[in-house]
Amino acid sequence: RNARGFDLGDIADLDCIEGARRPFRDRDFRAMPITVIPVDPEGAEWHSMVNPADPGDTVGLVRDATAAEVEQAITAATPWGASPRERAAVLERVAELYERDFGEILAIVAREAGKNLLDAVGELREAIDFLFYYARQAKCLEPTPRGRFACISPWNFPLAIFTGQIAGALAAGNAVLAKPAEQSPLTAAKGVALMHEAGVPQSALQFLPGDGAIVGTALTGDRRINGVAFTGGTDTARAIRRNMSEHLAPGTPLIAETGGLNAMIVDSTALHEQAVRDVVASAFQSAGQRCSALRCLYVQEDVRSDFMEMLLGAMDELRLGDPWRLSTDIGPVIDTDAAAEIGAYIDSARRDGRLIKQVDAPDGGHFIGPAVIEVDGIEDLEREIFGPVLHVASYRAQDLDAVIERINARGYGLTFGLHTRIEDRVQHIVDRVHAGNIYVNRNQIGAIVASQPFGGEGLSGTGPKAGGPDYVPRFAAPDVPKAAT
Ligand code: NAP
Repeated sequence: RNARGFDLGDIADLDCIEGARRPFRDRDFRAMPITVIPVDPEGAEWHSMVNPADPGDTVGLVRDATAAEVEQAITAATPWGASPRERAAVLERVAELYERDFGEILAIVAREAGKNLLDAVGELREAIDFLFYYARQAKCLEPTPRGRFACISPWNFPLAIFTGQIAGALAAGNAVLAKPAEQSPLTAAKGVALMHEAGVPQSALQFLPGDGAIVGTALTGDRRINGVAFTGGTDTARAIRRNMSEHLAPGTPLIAETGGLNAMIVDSTALHEQAVRDVVASAFQSAGQRCSALRCLYVQEDVRSDFMEMLLGAMDELRLGDPWRLSTDIGPVIDTDAAAEIGAYIDSARRDGRLIKQVDAPDGGHFIGPAVIEVDGIEDLEREIFGPVLHVASYRAQDLDAVIERINARGYGLTFGLHTRIEDRVQHIVDRVHAGNIYVNRNQIGAIVASQPFGGEGLSGTGPKAGGPDYVPRFAAPDVPKAAT
């Protein structure tokens, strides 16, 4: 029985999904067109992508686009001339192809990004939801394009965010120049291949894997770009904003979805069993590599001792290891650099006597044991640590409003969690906390396209929320009315 309550034993691993593993192992990604510019696989510099759970496992090869290729791709990029209904039909066809190739996609996501199987399934479903939802927006709104959109995405949702940005921009008829994160180009390449197979013209979707400092800078500093969709760190968004303001036309939209220092409050009336389960999921699922993940937990001091005993006990039940196995709760962090940075942060807390607990991690891959660190409050967090690290503080009942002020004072505003059984308190806190997505008596990760759009405010993002009615209109020429749904 794992922390989420499933009892899967050892029977289930990804081999049970017919065809998911073997064809993937044999695949040669050099055969995949990674840019629309003719490339010379023999002469160019290819580098290997390795599995973060097993660095001896080479997942595939990729060649980064050069600045010259970015220049050519921008020149070649042409807005999609099809009608909104035709565009919608192609996006729906992309969704069908994602479903057709689900086994291979799960395999790529798990092996390249180290996602465990349930996370990979959630990622695929979200990508498909984005495609259907933005296709519907195209039909309802009949938007007209702005021109060329640069879409720059992170590795932690290598398929869903990559697909969502592109689908939003294509739904509005733009030409897209898509740059995935350096850590996840193979997942992105698979998505692009299916988009082209479904009928998105090559000229309307150009794929530019490579270094953010080279490809990203070239894209966001080219005056022919009419908009940028970016998801990633807050500092990167600042750099992009600066580059755009120097080189692009004033008023060029930047849709930025960025990081957070997300908090949760557990008061003395919370149901401990439920709150513990939700804290574990919020802080440690996906190895804490979610922008929505819980970083700073405030527990009311009257119940802190009992609550912490249960939380630390639950952490002992977490299973770290091979993402292929359904029984695995927590896979690896993305790469050596991430493991070193998170590890050093935890070691520093250990030296300072603030480390309350760290779960043991297996050898072999980039595994980091989930850790809990004592803090006085959210102001002790220097920055977003993008891994399985939970900070815990306690508060007195009479200080609740002051705690909310301290959380708001950090300037982020992505997710916020609350566990209480006092209804008035829910409204009181929801009215005061600054956060794009607020979760009450549940975990604070996840969103549902169309019914629960996702996105932050302040340092966490510009809006509009992904998966919401205002998203596609932001990619469209400004005179397009907003969608009703
Ligand atoms: P990142 O380092 O900011 O990178 C994001 C993307 O930007 C990558 O494709 C990166 O390329 C590119 N990039 C880097 N420097 C650039 C530059 N100067 N100009 C243009 N592009 C540049 O973020 P990450 O480590 O991939 O992702 C984790 C971060 O994303 C966390 O902060 C997390 O909170 C945030 N996030 C937010 C949301 C949300 O919805 N709010 C969702 C997911 C993740 P390289 O890979 O080559 O560096």
